[in-house]
Amino acid sequence: MQLSDKKWEDVKDEATQLLREYIKINTTNPPGNEIEGAKFLKHVLEKEGLECNVFESEKGRGSIITRLKGTGEAPSLLLLSHIDVVPADEDKWEYPPFSGELIDNIIWGRGALDCKSLGIAELMVMLLLKRERIKLKGDVVMAATADEEAGGVFGAEWIAKEKFPLIKTDYVINEGGGDGILTDKGYVFLCQTAEKGIYWMRLKFKGRPGHGSMPHEDNCIAKMAKAINIISSYSSPIKVNDVVEKFVEGFGIDKKVFDPNLSKQILKSIEDKKMAYWINAMMRNTFSPNVVKGGKKTNVIPSECYLEVDSRVLPGYEPEYALEELRKLLKDIIEFDVEIIQESIPSQSPLDTPLYKIIEKNIKDFSSNANLIPFMQVGGTDSRFFREKGIPSYGFGPLLIDGPYGEFLAMVHGHNEKISIDNLLFMIKTLWNVVTDFSTMLF
Ligand SMILES: [Zn+2]
Repeated sequence: MQLSDKKWEDVKDEATQLLREYIKINTTNPPGNEIEGAKFLKHVLEKEGLECNVFESEKGRGSIITRLKGTGEAPSLLLLSHIDVVPADEDKWEYPPFSGELIDNIIWGRGALDCKSLGIAELMVMLLLKRERIKLKGDVVMAATADEEAGGVFGAEWIAKEKFPLIKTDYVINEGGGDGILTDKGYVFLCQTAEKGIYWMRLKFKGRPGHGSMPHEDNCIAKMAKAINIISSYSSPIKVNDVVEKFVEGFGIDKKVFDPNLSKQILKSIEDKKMAYWINAMMRNTFSPNVVKGGKKTNVIPSECYLEVDSRVLPGYEPEYALEELRKLLKDIIEFDVEIIQESIPSQSPLDTPLYKIIEKNIKDFSSNANLIPFMQVGGTDSRFFREKGIPSYGFGPLLIDGPYGEFLAMVHGHNEKISIDNLLFMIKTLWNVVTDFSTMLF
């Protein structure tokens, strides 16, 4: 649905102002205090006659939902974002992280990318649907939730359990993708269609205590060291799913990367090391030994110590499979007790849905050379709570990356997070096109 250039100029100014204000509301999680962000969005929406539901799952942990009704002739769509942000190390920033400073057409602040910009883009789409009196065939819902950065317990997970009818739709667009990366062959836009599951384990090793002056063979620290060695040199078997296959294809990487005999060599030949680690993590379950605790005194052999392992499992596996795999790996070598610290299921959405196709079409409309490529997030987003209920969910907050991709990624959860207002407008326009295509066509 076309809008005039003049209208887009006004949208750009309005969205810039709104994003700056939204960033100024400190929603660092913990403690979150997302209710202040929810109230801000509510105020803007209600001023234009959109009815809102604001909830607190616990004091301060606010989320907001608003719905524009369609005729029901087309599937409904949820535009999702989260209100909370990760902490910012203020000393390391060029401009204070909650200043919402606007300098040379760039908005600075924590959340400028993850993901208050998406929140404002989705808000603008809702306002425009209302102002332009778009005749919707499917409902369009917007939700901004608490607590995504700490697992969603007080946000999306809680809503999915307690308030599901209010947020329920047939499809979801969420954060976690949409980056447009310029390659020799044109723009490649990433769409998040899958997420790995998380399984964090604490392994406890026991041994015989004693005096450090008389070493013996039953030292728990030595057992843990052995386990760390085995775990860190282990590669889980390769399992290719259609997402990683399309991803590798899209970036022109040799498909022999899936051949167990050649994989290591191909991964080594990829210049961008981060890309190589990412592909590796998309094609196998992973285990990373990250925390060790043990021993109190130099002259005492301790009786126990522990190791925390961060394991991520591919879609198609139960999270507990990670423990099974680990037990097999350490079987007969080292005994250990295990405690599960955190777990979440892997999830995946199909690629042959009308929404995915409409996103793809809009990328082509932007540039005939551009391609949409699915990817698997090796961390997690709130999309899993919807996929769990069988709702196709896509991570797509479209942006044009105007420098090295690694530098861009470093801003997310890092220092000096910022977004240009041109990019903010690009996000709004692209989402507007996707939403109006999707919600006004007949299926
Ligand atoms: Zn986020």
